[in-house]
Amino acid sequence: LNTKVLNGKQNVVKVGKLNIGGDNPPVFIAGPCSVESREQIINTAMALKEIGVNILRGGAFKPRTSPYSFQGLGVEGLKYLKEAGEMTGLPVVTELMDEKNIGVVSEFADIIQIGSRNMYNYSLLKAVGKVDKPILLKRGMSASIKEWIMAAEYIAYYGNENIILCERGIRTFETYTRNTLDLSAVPIMKKEAGLPVIVDPSHGTGIRELIKPMSKAAIACGADGLMVEVHPNPKEALSDGKQSLNIDEYKELYKEVISII
Ligand code: PEP
Ligand code: MN
Repeated sequence: LNTKVLNGKQNVVKVGKLNIGGDNPPVFIAGPCSVESREQIINTAMALKEIGVNILRGGAFKPRTSPYSFQGLGVEGLKYLKEAGEMTGLPVVTELMDEKNIGVVSEFADIIQIGSRNMYNYSLLKAVGKVDKPILLKRGMSASIKEWIMAAEYIAYYGNENIILCERGIRTFETYTRNTLDLSAVPIMKKEAGLPVIVDPSHGTGIRELIKPMSKAAIACGADGLMVEVHPNPKEALSDGKQSLNIDEYKELYKEVISII
């Protein structure tokens, strides 16, 4: 595939005391699509910590399809997310959409997420290549394996090899699901890139009932972790409610996944 820095040797990514990839057990990343308020993210974080989650997610800068949809709380959201992380001892991951926010996002996040829509944003990839924080690189919604691996190579080439790949589904002719979750990408990317690969069944299917079965399938095919959207009250969520689990549903998922590890 013409990668020079990513040569297939297995990289383990460290996030605080957590090791992701290699022979380490899968990591559980969970949290709301968007940070909506201080109370919402703190309550969610405490419940998830109690269940056993390893990393808290929450979007502050949101890439929404419509300009009229909730755009995220921005820097205020980053502060609430960090506070929730500190209260529970959970590292936090949040999306960086724009190079101009790289300073503030690196200050508050333990892992910087590059979203599906920005996988092809080469100037952003170069910029996070120079940052001393692990990067969670989501697959572009129409990205081939080769394009995805090259996006990771950009980050690595510019100096940052601490990359976690995230399969989040791709667009196909199928419209029943939001995206088609490509689980074959998991063993392929682990082998070709030598990077940890996690799966996001929430964006990968868009359908609440499919999150648990697809999580189990992801673990069965070797995923190094799962990233799942969880909201205390999905009906009221400001983004992605239809694909969010409530706390009890997530607890069920966690228990079932743990039992097959
Ligand atoms: C998200 O994780 O909330 C998100 C926007 O994901 P994606 O970039 O995969 O659509
Ligand atoms: Mn979302």
